[in-house]
Amino acid sequence: MTATDWAARWAGYSPEAIAFTDGDTGEELTYGELNQGGMNLVVHFLSTLGLGHGDRIAILAENSLAYPLLFVAAQKAGFVLVPVNYRLSAHELAYILKDAAPALLIAEAQFSALAAAACQQSGLNPECWLLEEVFNHAVEATGAVPPLRRRAAGGEGEEPQRTSRQLGTPRWPTVSETDPIFILYTSGTTGFPKGALYTHRMLFWNSVNTALSLVINSESRTLNVMPPFHTGGWNVLVTPLLHRGGHTVLLRKFSAGGVLEWLEKSKSTVFMAVPTMLRMLTDDPAFATADLTSLRYIIVGGEPLPLPVIEQWHRRGIPIRQGFGMTEVGPNLFSLHQNDATRKIGSIGRPNFYVETRIVDENGRDCPANVSGELLLRGPMVTPGYWQNEAATQSAFQGEWFKTGDVVQRDEDGYFFVVGRLKEMYISGGENVYPAEIERWLEKHPEIAEVAVVGTEDEKWGEVGSAFVVPVPGHSPSAESLGGYCREGLARFKVPKYFLLVTELPKNATGKIDRRALANL
Ligand code: ATP
Ligand code: MG
Repeated sequence: MTATDWAARWAGYSPEAIAFTDGDTGEELTYGELNQGGMNLVVHFLSTLGLGHGDRIAILAENSLAYPLLFVAAQKAGFVLVPVNYRLSAHELAYILKDAAPALLIAEAQFSALAAAACQQSGLNPECWLLEEVFNHAVEATGAVPPLRRRAAGGEGEEPQRTSRQLGTPRWPTVSETDPIFILYTSGTTGFPKGALYTHRMLFWNSVNTALSLVINSESRTLNVMPPFHTGGWNVLVTPLLHRGGHTVLLRKFSAGGVLEWLEKSKSTVFMAVPTMLRMLTDDPAFATADLTSLRYIIVGGEPLPLPVIEQWHRRGIPIRQGFGMTEVGPNLFSLHQNDATRKIGSIGRPNFYVETRIVDENGRDCPANVSGELLLRGPMVTPGYWQNEAATQSAFQGEWFKTGDVVQRDEDGYFFVVGRLKEMYISGGENVYPAEIERWLEKHPEIAEVAVVGTEDEKWGEVGSAFVVPVPGHSPSAESLGGYCREGLARFKVPKYFLLVTELPKNATGKIDRRALANL
């Protein structure tokens, strides 16, 4: 089946409706402009740069209206977007460039030196362009091809090296639903980032699943502050908007003040966030007084959200809908309805409508209720595999089932609970220990603001837990008292042997705790 051109559809239904607002500049894009801007980009990419169906376009830029425009262009003509993390070092970026081998690299001016260094280290020589030019001209153009004038890798004012081919009028490629639209690199929490292929079909089914579980429609308004190089950012951008015809405000960077201001100003009805963001919002003095009456709920996922934070939002009258997702699978997999938010607190809810799940033990046998095992997934939102990494693809699948590496259990009512990650599990005295379980208990301690537990080698037990604790300001709980507190709620073998007070926890670009950095401390 061919992929549907969503922007063209909405431009037909409601060309004047505002699709996006750039919260930093105040610029707006209607659905009509979005569609036209996307077409302009396609013409330019095909005819001036000689790009074709399946060519990769790497993007190194903060959140801005350029992303939806590039998305629309990719959906129309079969380009594959590779949004990359601009916080990477040149060396790390070179690794990804080498892996994805883009034909075009678009960088914001602030990242042009990084782009140039990474290109040089990767030994590749993609066309490099400044994003500002692509964006400005695509918005303004009324049928004209957006001219791209400056090379990102070169510097101000330098003439671009045009491709020498004379291309004439290009043929507009046909896009199939099984073609990739993204290569999205995983967070790299458990190793090197892997380039997950993300097809037009995955996009469609994720949007269907999300819209069904979250009741998103053309009246929906949302705010997107998730990084654009992460699946969460695209999820927020694509579903409410392009598939459902709603309105999204984009902010370049997360700041608690900026988000509270825009939630109020744009009368957002839904907001999607990761736990670190919610914690920063509740800590902000404006949290208590901001007018959040339009918000129906907040969707949170990516890693466990501490129960005390959920309770703070509930006291403010805003339900938290716990979600669960991953790059390779859409990302939305589970969702806890707001009516169950208190009754099933701590649960990730039930699988979305078009998601099939299994929970299996080490021998591949299905686990009964309340017994934990690895989560397997099947459905049209599962990735076909990792980009040019057959070994990783092979080991991620068991037949048609995708092995998540996450350990979960299900209660009698069919609600799922995350136990931890297989890769984070350590074995102490022959017992499996999941750090997430210990962290959940420690997070309830009144003197602990944040905590992470990792396994550490031990002569006697094989491995023991080391807890890195960020205390609430003004407190410094002793290792002895924390050990005693753990013994009240956890089996002996789960009680960490070491407690270390730290001022902050290392986090990766998506705000997740960087456990490899912790293990090396
Ligand atoms: P990598 O695959 O490179 O190690 P990553 O798995 O962190 O990195 P993502 O795809 O961004 O990369 O994250 C998906 C993972 O995040 C899930 O597999 C799961 O472990 C975790 N996760 C997502 N949502 C939740 C949640 N609500 N509670 C607990 N863990 C979650
Ligand atoms: Mg993963």
